[in-house]
Amino acid sequence: MCWQARASDTTWALADNVKVTFLGGLGDIGRNCATIEAQGSLLLLDCGQMFPDEFHPGVESILPDLSYIKERADRVVGCIATHGHEDHIGALGYLLRDVSFPVYGSRFTLGLAERKVKEFGVLHRTRLIAVADGEHHRIGPFDCEFIPVTHSVPGGVITAISTPQGKILHSCDFKLDLFPVDGRRTGLARIGAISSEAGIRLFLADSTNAEMPGSSRSESDIGGALDRLFAAQNGRRIITACFASHLHRVQQIVTAALACGRKVVTLGLSMKNNVALGRQLGLLKIPESSFMQIEECDTLDPGEVCVISTGSQAEPRSSLATAAAGGSRWIRIDENDTVVLSSNPIPGNEVRVSRMINDLLNLGARVIHPGEIDIHTSGHGRQNELATLHHAAAPEWFVPVHGELRHLRAHAALAKRLGMPESRVLLARDGDQIVMEDASLRLRPSVTTGDHLLVHGPFIAADGGVLNERAIIGEQGVVVASVAVDLEGLCLAADPLVVSRGWLDQPQADDLMTEIAEDLTEAISAKLAMGFVELAELRQVVRKTVGSLVNSRSGRRPAILPLVTALHE
Ligand SMILES: [Zn+2]
Ligand SMILES: [Zn+2]
Repeated sequence: MCWQARASDTTWALADNVKVTFLGGLGDIGRNCATIEAQGSLLLLDCGQMFPDEFHPGVESILPDLSYIKERADRVVGCIATHGHEDHIGALGYLLRDVSFPVYGSRFTLGLAERKVKEFGVLHRTRLIAVADGEHHRIGPFDCEFIPVTHSVPGGVITAISTPQGKILHSCDFKLDLFPVDGRRTGLARIGAISSEAGIRLFLADSTNAEMPGSSRSESDIGGALDRLFAAQNGRRIITACFASHLHRVQQIVTAALACGRKVVTLGLSMKNNVALGRQLGLLKIPESSFMQIEECDTLDPGEVCVISTGSQAEPRSSLATAAAGGSRWIRIDENDTVVLSSNPIPGNEVRVSRMINDLLNLGARVIHPGEIDIHTSGHGRQNELATLHHAAAPEWFVPVHGELRHLRAHAALAKRLGMPESRVLLARDGDQIVMEDASLRLRPSVTTGDHLLVHGPFIAADGGVLNERAIIGEQGVVVASVAVDLEGLCLAADPLVVSRGWLDQPQADDLMTEIAEDLTEAISAKLAMGFVELAELRQVVRKTVGSLVNSRSGRRPAILPLVTALHE
């Protein structure tokens, strides 16, 4: 492959510098967000969130380092929403509270973004500007060209951004599906043309599946598998679950259902909304005569129904997880049901999905999942597909994006195998900045923290230790010891009070509580007998006395919370 720019470096001689700053998504799969700055303007490339895992107990959402944008609020000229997945648009509502800017994306992407932004009550702070395949839009000083791409949601766009330092090409989340369900193929020819005409100075590309050899299967392959599967469920109700934004999958489920004479109904709010949006935009074809509401499906025989539900990841309170737990107000699952999970568990969700499968089996349902037959394919390209994109783009410089460190490294290694010199592959992480200059590109590490911003209700901040506290309390519980002292009389003002939560069950804890209170009385009285003491010292005595007794008697290390109050302070 040719890694050198087709245009000579003199094209950019004496041009303004361009800065590309990564605020999220380079180190995690999630919270994708980058900024491109030139001539005093700042263009945002995605603004996504990440869903918390078991290492983030009690956290609602994890955001990119938005402080970098807020500090430059007056320079923001817009945000390109490359596609409608949460890891690309999910933080828009949070950012629009503080910064006002237009959002550019395909009509389906904007439909999803609009709903998100509305939930935050900040729709009036943005303008949603629809872009069509092949269109150019001038956003501040940047000319942006939008090129179609195949992915697991309709309407994704690869963006070619003209800057004073040459073109930046961003791959979007990418796979190379030669037989896409909607016939909308990745614009490889256009990328090749841009590469040979102007040259691509900097290439940013999806690394999610960079470790995986070969190619991913076409989405349309799944349709055949679903057809065969549905045909074998004579007389049984079919309940399928897939991602609500994956309208191509939904379309194939609908097609398979109609082929065996079933009517389709949706279950779950996001499925209902996305199917409505897809039908409105002409992306999803369901004849009105075959579409029913969930309230009506009991009027049909089980063999005449196909339910399309949310909850393929067994998300808590999702429709399928609720039905599997027997708590759905809409459907009761029994031995007449075949449940088809048409998505792989996202890493981290395996245990939850497995538990839901067991719950469904327990209710008598037949369960079919991608571990058994091929009813899912990834929306992210593997090495052969990435290589094809690299060949078409033939960039001068490359930064792998969208991945954990292992994925970014694998993508960097792939680029080198494709012939890029090591010095032209920059391995950036969240918080790092690429400075594009006439002579070269260089990486400035840690220009901003790249911190995970954690959302706890109205509070948004980097972790200051609360996650560790939650982990300790969650695993070991908490013991609260309250002591009131009379600092004038230098004696205890009342008997110490000890309570616990999550440490031991009450019968076992009760005996130890009495013992702790006695030890505390002794230790505090001894300390007070030595004369005047600071409250901080008394708190130390309480913590040590309670901690050592709790640990020696129970072998546990719960959080110890010493409360010392003083009379006559
Ligand atoms: Zn993504
Ligand atoms: Zn995506």
